[in-house]
Amino acid sequence: MPDSKPTPAAPEKSPDQAKAKADEKPKAKAKPKPKATNESKLAKLGLRSDMDLVLHLPMRYEDETQIRPISDAGFMGGNAAQVEGLVTDCDIQYRPRRQLVVTIADDSGSLVMRFLNFYGSQVKQFAVGVRIRARGEIRHGFFGAEMVHPTYKVVEEGDPLPDSLTPVYPAGEGLSQSYLRKAISNALKRVDWRDTLSPALLDSLQLQGFEPSVKLLHNPPPDVDEHALMERTHPAWTRMKFDELLAQQLSLKRAQQARRAKGAAALPVVGTLSEAFLKALPFQLTDAQQRVLAEIRADLRESFPMQRLLQGDVGSGKTVVAALAAAQAIDSGFQAALMAPTEILAEQHFRKIAQWMEPLGVRVAWLTGSLKKKEKEAAQAMIGSGEAHLVIGTHALIQEGVEFTRLGLVIVDEQHRFGVGQRLALRNKGLDAKGLDAAGVGPGNAGRNAGQGDQTVPHQLMMSATPIPRTLAMTYYADLEVSVIDQLPPGRTPIVTRVIDQNRREEVIERVHAAALEGRQVYWVCPLIEESEALQLQTATDTHAALSAALPDLRVGLVHGRMKPAEKQVVMDAFTRAEVHVLVATTVIEVGVDVPNASLMVIEHAERFGLSQLHQLRGRVGRGSAASICLLLYQSPVGQVAKQRLMTMRETTDGFEIARRDLEIRGPGEFLGARQSGEAMLRFADLERDQWLVDKARGLAQMLLQNDPATVEAHLARWLGGREEFLKV
Ligand code: ADP
Ligand code: MG
Repeated sequence: MPDSKPTPAAPEKSPDQAKAKADEKPKAKAKPKPKATNESKLAKLGLRSDMDLVLHLPMRYEDETQIRPISDAGFMGGNAAQVEGLVTDCDIQYRPRRQLVVTIADDSGSLVMRFLNFYGSQVKQFAVGVRIRARGEIRHGFFGAEMVHPTYKVVEEGDPLPDSLTPVYPAGEGLSQSYLRKAISNALKRVDWRDTLSPALLDSLQLQGFEPSVKLLHNPPPDVDEHALMERTHPAWTRMKFDELLAQQLSLKRAQQARRAKGAAALPVVGTLSEAFLKALPFQLTDAQQRVLAEIRADLRESFPMQRLLQGDVGSGKTVVAALAAAQAIDSGFQAALMAPTEILAEQHFRKIAQWMEPLGVRVAWLTGSLKKKEKEAAQAMIGSGEAHLVIGTHALIQEGVEFTRLGLVIVDEQHRFGVGQRLALRNKGLDAKGLDAAGVGPGNAGRNAGQGDQTVPHQLMMSATPIPRTLAMTYYADLEVSVIDQLPPGRTPIVTRVIDQNRREEVIERVHAAALEGRQVYWVCPLIEESEALQLQTATDTHAALSAALPDLRVGLVHGRMKPAEKQVVMDAFTRAEVHVLVATTVIEVGVDVPNASLMVIEHAERFGLSQLHQLRGRVGRGSAASICLLLYQSPVGQVAKQRLMTMRETTDGFEIARRDLEIRGPGEFLGARQSGEAMLRFADLERDQWLVDKARGLAQMLLQNDPATVEAHLARWLGGREEFLKV
């Protein structure tokens, strides 16, 4: 075991370099950092108990079991090799920058070790004649074979080599590999190895035991199948992945049980409002809308809180379904709240829903951050007195001062744009619903009964047009039912998408002109400039000026994120009334904007947008009966990934297919965003690759929860420790 100095180690970045630091010989007198510090660093990695350490498995392995002759090792071609030799020279050089250059030699040849960062103590350490064992990638430099920042240690002749692969652990800032190894190997001696799964179960699942699996992964025997180990297909890995997935499934199912144990006010009445609303609608619900509505209605009748995600492609008609859910809450004597991520979108919902419902006697309150103090107070009063049946707004809904009397249903549109905390905050607005008893509706007051848990929470409906593939939804989101609108309203004509070089902009402007003369309306989306909002704004203004000049006979409007909501509204209104032909916009129109007569969309620098963003933007057209066109302008050269995105956009308008490809291109972590993904729940298993294990784990979880609570507890305690709170979304 080499001595260690707790210098920052970041093995993922540059393995050899990081490990070099980790294994450096420290100054003879170097004080080890106080133990508490290392412990807190371990805690930062989530490593608090011995079992946590034991389950901190290697991310890869290094082969230190052999020593190669120096002359030979050079031909390993890119792979790390281990050599041993005596120091023949040690020198600080200054070309081009200060560096320590050490030469070692064995019988076969010599090798230069180069250190760009080094300590004075190291210089002393490399006294001529000292025996060094070094490991690293050999390159043939100007002065012959050399290793840059190798891992090394001082050894005696004949010091034994390890007989198994050396594990490399994920390490945090300042934790050395050798410290981790020592801590883990101590923990391995102390933990309770009892298997959480019985031999019979293991047998039927064809899994190997916990103890031998873990031990093998930390100390692989010399004859291990290295490939299987590295690729994580070894049965020992399979057991770890299975256990991890089982813990996840158990924890999700338990979250579901916990939710069911909570009280919610049942909203059982589909009454006069719901019926009148349906009758007054200018269209018939699609089959898909009817199906999801039935699912939601059934949930709302229950006296435990609904937690349902309503997925439907852009334009599939989620809003009306949400409004019908709200109608059921109101019919049942409760309030409903609808929160949207942007003012534009919230305002649109407000207008549309108010237009549908106010004639039916529903009081709809409007609450956003931009309201004047007086207006805000008026809205709050309406909400607090229960006079407002339905409240529509932005984040302002979750701010202090907003008190509902009897909030029964919470609806969150474009839910992926909110953080978990924000969604919870809105749900919690219903916690202390004071008027429950007074309202005298439903068993809402059951929540205050002893033994029934503590509180009631409102039902929750989340909506998203960014479809999450089913496996992801089920495994990443804690306890979520999913409804899908998989059908667009009739009469829509498919959108044709073209990918066009930016240098044909003139032609594109011609097309815009022609379309406008035919009475169609056009969105012109300005490029996304992530580095600078100011620049993005500038571009939008410039584009507006340029298009106004190029199209003197048309009315060109501009809407961007920096405008005051009222200003935005003026422009949007004019566009809705077809008084503006061309609307130049930044991505503020990305979500929800609904102007059916707009049938041509131009997106500049489409190569800069993400796939789901492009899909959302494109969804602004194709809402009416006119054939719609989306022109994606790109600036050459376009990178490989961006090209894939543009091709995908051209090939399909199906949101689910696009989401699937997006997932392929980006991987699940990025796809969901860290804050949505239940934290680092899965360290070992890969949902795509290990799908077969997910299915097995799900089945066993069900069975254990029914028949074997002791095993459930033991398994969760082992695998989750204190991390379960992350999952309560
Ligand atoms: P999204 O699912 O993207 O939120 P919206 O709810 O905004 O979609 O609906 C898009 C448009 O389709 C709206 O103008 C809406 O009124 C209309 N719509 C919704 N359902 C139907 C239907 N069943 N038949 C015809 N039009 C519909
Ligand atoms: Mg919508």
